[in-house]
Amino acid sequence: MLREIADRETAVEQKDEPHVGYQGEPGAFGEVAAAAHGGIPQGFASFEKLLDALRDGLVDEAVLPMENAVVGAITEALEPLAEAVVGGLELVAVSITSVPVRLALAARPGTPLNEVKRAWSHPAALRQCTHRLAQMGIERVVCYDTAGAAQIIAHDASTDAAVCSRHAAERYGLEVLVEDVSDKEQNGTRFAHLRMADHARAQVPLVFLRTSNMTATGRLDVLTGATLLPLAGSAEFPVRMWVLGADAARLQALAPVRDVQVISLGQPAPHASRSVAPKPGTEPVVKSLPHATARKPPTVVEVGPFRVGGGARAVIAGPCSVESPEQVMRIARQVASCGATALRGGIFKPRTNPYAFQGHGLEALDWLVKAGRETGLPVVTEVMAVDQVKPVAEKADVLQIGARNMQNFDLLRAVGRAGRPVLLKRGAGATVDEWLGAAEYVMASGEARLILCERGIRTFETSTRNTLDVGGMLAARPLTHLPILADPSHAAGRADLVEGLARAAWAAGADGLIVEVHDDPARALSDGEQALVPQRFAELARALALKPDARLPLAQLRAWVDAIDAELAHLVQRRLEVAKVIGDSKRQTGRAVLDPRREAAVRRTYAEALSGSRQVADKLVDLLIEAARAQQSIEE
Ligand code: PEP
Ligand code: MN
Repeated sequence: MLREIADRETAVEQKDEPHVGYQGEPGAFGEVAAAAHGGIPQGFASFEKLLDALRDGLVDEAVLPMENAVVGAITEALEPLAEAVVGGLELVAVSITSVPVRLALAARPGTPLNEVKRAWSHPAALRQCTHRLAQMGIERVVCYDTAGAAQIIAHDASTDAAVCSRHAAERYGLEVLVEDVSDKEQNGTRFAHLRMADHARAQVPLVFLRTSNMTATGRLDVLTGATLLPLAGSAEFPVRMWVLGADAARLQALAPVRDVQVISLGQPAPHASRSVAPKPGTEPVVKSLPHATARKPPTVVEVGPFRVGGGARAVIAGPCSVESPEQVMRIARQVASCGATALRGGIFKPRTNPYAFQGHGLEALDWLVKAGRETGLPVVTEVMAVDQVKPVAEKADVLQIGARNMQNFDLLRAVGRAGRPVLLKRGAGATVDEWLGAAEYVMASGEARLILCERGIRTFETSTRNTLDVGGMLAARPLTHLPILADPSHAAGRADLVEGLARAAWAAGADGLIVEVHDDPARALSDGEQALVPQRFAELARALALKPDARLPLAQLRAWVDAIDAELAHLVQRRLEVAKVIGDSKRQTGRAVLDPRREAAVRRTYAEALSGSRQVADKLVDLLIEAARAQQSIEE
């Protein structure tokens, strides 16, 4: 019971408002920005101290003024920020707050305006009222903060004044002599809310850019629609600026790559998907293909335990042709035990030679389905004609359209109406656009669950049956939300190349593979030359990190775990090496070797990946951190 209460209390505590640091004293404009999203403001004497506090975890967030309506870039904040990020501080910009600025001229009560000869304030605030103060014959005195200036004047016996907010003036008992001495009526400052990259995702693109090429950044604001906040150039980098509102990738692409260094506030989160999925939205990429190229989150096609797309990867395996009930059952058991997620097998075979084996037809569908049911794998099989669609759809889980039929439009419409997910192979002579056009036929006829499959295109090369077009597969990726598989078997046409092509496609981000497997390739009724024997398929499955099951012989399971151990040991070795380099870097830049925030971030990474085994995660991190420390202090 007590524990429950204690747990609840910590839970409440964790929901507390964030501590948000700003530069200045209470009453400063930064305080207004810091409180804008319900944070608890905390003042710091300088921007350097503020950034240190953020790095050391004394505050959760820091607000820094970026841009002012009268004077533009607030270099007092932007310079220390540049220095910090160039030095390796990993920050993200989570939001922007615009604070209206009215700069009051305030002095001790009873001070006549004409006796005020000097005005104290933060240099950025003083720049905003250069002309007005000059007109009044008032000299400017720089101090660290607007509200700080009010505080100083309150404790001073002179007739000096402060330039600060009305709120600050009242707070320190000053009298407002002039409501607003800004040179421009509509004055305001934009503050960026910054957090440590470990703790948040960037919402606002903010990038530091420097270059030795004076012309590299011309028209950057026009081209990107971003706000440029220039800083003074150095000997090495005559052009230095902060860019607010243009993402780093865009800038890299626009600026001549050589010579321009772009430091982005906010790297993608480490677990973010590597694939270049289209950004959610509604407009199709290709307007004439509204279904296939709709801008929406990745489509996930799901049939029982089979899932593909949006990060879920599938491996469909089985014979080219279903040859007998026993053959397909044996192969189904073998591929299932290696972690395959669906079973393939042809019952209608598109053959180049009309006298070659044409498939056992609908009779073989029952053999395929039985093997699938028994092994728990959904089944994928090809339909070649409109009249085959209905009987096959009654029993098969996924309908395949073969490469030769990619533009058989009646067939595409018929499978689109069949109520089953469709696997659409790319034609050997089809462009990516034509492939997506074929997908549109199926989708426009009613079937949203479509899987694309690159299976090799015909080129001049004769050493392979086709040429696996990994480039075309990647080119299709940003155009469509649909999952994209690769078929290394039909691309290669020879078994010895299948594993290499499979791994290449997998590494390039394919959502899955379809692979032909046969336990007696020499006697296969079709495509024996390209079939993997079960043993070779097991090796591929291991390389792709599929999960085997207990039906696999013990010796093979051991080979599986041995491969994982070898990889793990290698990774640990690599981690130790990089940890040592990090230690060297910290020493060279005079930074503390121990960083509790980084440690916490590492701990989170392991806890997330090993969510089912917290203890293992904790012990592993302890061990790795201990080892890293030993590495890092070797030369101390
Ligand atoms: C098949 O998958 O067996 C097949 C005939 O493939 P494709 O249509 O890609 O040649
Ligand atoms: Mn085949």
